[in-house]
Amino acid sequence: MPSADIDQLVAQVTPKPVRLLFFDVEVAPMLAFLWQLDVGYMNPDMVEQPEKFLLSWSAKWSDETKVRSQVLAPGEARAEDDGRIVEGLAKLVRKADYVVGHNVNKFDLKRLNTRVLLNGSQPLGSVQTIDTLLIARQSFDFASNRLGFIANLLGVGEKDSTNLDLWRRCVRGEAKALKEMRAYNITDTILLESVFRAMAPYAKKIPRLVDAAEWRQELCPHCGDPREKTATTKRHKRDGEHRTNVNTFPKYRCSNCGRNYRGWQAIGSMKAGSVGL
Ligand SMILES: [Zn+2]
Repeated sequence: MPSADIDQLVAQVTPKPVRLLFFDVEVAPMLAFLWQLDVGYMNPDMVEQPEKFLLSWSAKWSDETKVRSQVLAPGEARAEDDGRIVEGLAKLVRKADYVVGHNVNKFDLKRLNTRVLLNGSQPLGSVQTIDTLLIARQSFDFASNRLGFIANLLGVGEKDSTNLDLWRRCVRGEAKALKEMRAYNITDTILLESVFRAMAPYAKKIPRLVDAAEWRQELCPHCGDPREKTATTKRHKRDGEHRTNVNTFPKYRCSNCGRNYRGWQAIGSMKAGSVGL
């Protein structure tokens, strides 16, 4: 067999971690005409431009150390033209197996998608998400589910301190403010990844993070660590059973990430029997 074919075969059977794209966007506020401060509802015509364009984004691939980011140039900020940076982020999102964000389902992805639509860019396609806000809500009971609060509590870092003035200066196209926004955005993305990695082993549910194929079931589906002992890894301990209505599966605890997972094959599978309803 020629070596190129062998390389191809090896590539096919090597477990691939899925590629996660951690990302965060910063958005311009809408500017409005107000006659009083206690406004309950505002008519869209009270708003100068009823759309929120992107000021900056930052993103990081799970298998890279580099944090990518783009910010509007002063002229683009003044012209409210985020076409260039929207396309920059959209290109990455289209390639990701999962995008990860804090409130990504309700905010970041929908905001990006709206800007993609309005800029007439190519659609994002079907994007799978992991929302760290949902993980925080479903699996834990933090006093606050804000990213900065959780990061602080876990001791993985702090958000850059800032205030609304930064957004005001960015909208006016101040070069220094836009640079500051980019740095603020990058810090958030680094915090996001740290918070995700810290919570993931304890989370009620996270997707399989290793590409699935039958023979690959002898790996921790969350981190890809092999079940059997190797020169560099420890054997995973058997940790009880996982029962469904149909079958009972062996459960293991990963020596690397600490998470439980169940074996692929049921205990005593293929035996005749009946299923209770
Ligand atoms: Zn693991």
